[in-house]
Amino acid sequence: MQPTASHYVNGAYLEDDAGAEIPVIFPATGEQIALVHEATPAVIEAALASAKAAQADWAAMVPVERGRILRRAADIMRERNRELSELETLDTGKPIQETLVADATSAADALEYFGGLAATLTGEHVPLGGDWAYTMRVPLGVCVGIGAWNYPTQIAAWKGAPALACGNTMIFKPSEQTPLCALKVAEILTEAGAPPGVYNVIQGAGTVGKSLVEDPRTAKVSLTGSAATGKKVYAAAAAQMKHATMELGGKSPLIIFDDADLESAVSAAINANFYASGQVCSNGTRVFVQNDIKEAFLSRLAERTAQAIIGDPRDEATNFGPMVSEEQLAITCSFIEKGLSEGARLIHGGKRLDQPGCYIEPTIFADVTDDMTIAREEIFGPVMSVLDFDTEDEVLIRANATELGLSGAVFTADLTRAHRVVHAIDAGSVWINQYNLTPVEVPFGGMKGSGVGRENSRAAIEHYSQLKTVYVGMSPVEAAF
Ligand code: NDP
Repeated sequence: MQPTASHYVNGAYLEDDAGAEIPVIFPATGEQIALVHEATPAVIEAALASAKAAQADWAAMVPVERGRILRRAADIMRERNRELSELETLDTGKPIQETLVADATSAADALEYFGGLAATLTGEHVPLGGDWAYTMRVPLGVCVGIGAWNYPTQIAAWKGAPALACGNTMIFKPSEQTPLCALKVAEILTEAGAPPGVYNVIQGAGTVGKSLVEDPRTAKVSLTGSAATGKKVYAAAAAQMKHATMELGGKSPLIIFDDADLESAVSAAINANFYASGQVCSNGTRVFVQNDIKEAFLSRLAERTAQAIIGDPRDEATNFGPMVSEEQLAITCSFIEKGLSEGARLIHGGKRLDQPGCYIEPTIFADVTDDMTIAREEIFGPVMSVLDFDTEDEVLIRANATELGLSGAVFTADLTRAHRVVHAIDAGSVWINQYNLTPVEVPFGGMKGSGVGRENSRAAIEHYSQLKTVYVGMSPVEAAF
């Protein structure tokens, strides 16, 4: 099942042992499960040359055929969901219970959705009296995708599917932490009929991503990563006037009013903080609970969190796995220490587990105030901050008092309040009585410091194509002299 080499270039696996070694660690045990090599300048050049060479023919293919290749890839992914999920679990440490339903399946949805759209990407006819014009939706060229480590299969497909549907080619660089899954996406696209060079994967750290972004052959970059990296990559793209999509971090509010269904609200808070061990960009990590239900909410939350089954992520009964790496675990522990030292009340968890692997307990803090570090900075680990509030006006001001704006949610039984509140939250995705569902049919992306552009839905097409206007003169040309 494991990929057979480090890179996938021009329709085949490629190795270059001269690249620095990147050991792949299974976070549940600390064991090394694979070794890949960072892309050397020769590998980077091969990927760029092959993506560039393949693009014109790929764009010229009858769109319905291009779409059929993507849809075939979706079918193969679904047939192999079990083995792809097992690989995702090894790569990331996420429980198989999650990866079976959230990773290759989500990638397949993107391939199917954009495969279906490929043949619909037309322009319009514009009457201008006697003359007329038409528009064409044309590809951008070579697109570079750069991924984070939390959803390696999904990110590879969420970027690749719309890019390819529009007639672009792609070079994808996964996170150094999770290099394996994107290679399988490339392999499956080839099997489904994608010509060599259409979708390439090369490994390496940020420096490899930087080389790809700065190469003049690259027309567009789409990054999923932290806000700090986003600023660097966006600036590098802007220096050459390249298109850019930035899917960055968040510190999103989940607002629970006293009329909310308590069990649903508790479920949402759990999903919004502990799914994937908290390593989800759109998580609702600032849980605002109206004062009069606060203690009831906290006691039910603690009771249910104590039922988490923490264990080997390969076991289908496990519903809370390790974090992706020792490094992320250490970052999370340092935030927990700050929470304690700044006076937050620990309700549950807070400790690393005394066993091999990158395990930490799901952690809940109450009495968190807006100025505390854990309420201001993205942790990207399983640490929930519960804050209290009294009025709607107050909570909205506090919910929006962040530079980030990826997501948000409200739990209430009051229909008009629900809409009023989500309209007032400055974020790209907001939920009413739900959290973190991101189906391919709807746009996903951030406002403010959480990024630019949108993934998924028809909106993604705007970010992987551009309009060309053709003006048609129907009469003799007149001039002043
Ligand atoms: P990073 O920002 O550290 O890295 C993201 C990717 O960018 C990695 O592949 C990294 O390589 C690469 N990279 C780093 N520096 C550069 C550079 N100068 N030029 C080009 N590429 C570069 O994020 P993490 O991988 O740590 O992921 C966690 C972050 O991602 C969180 O902040 C989270 O919120 C965000 N995220 C956002 C999502 C969204 O859709 N909005 C979804 C998921 C995560 P390498 O790490 O291999 O060195």
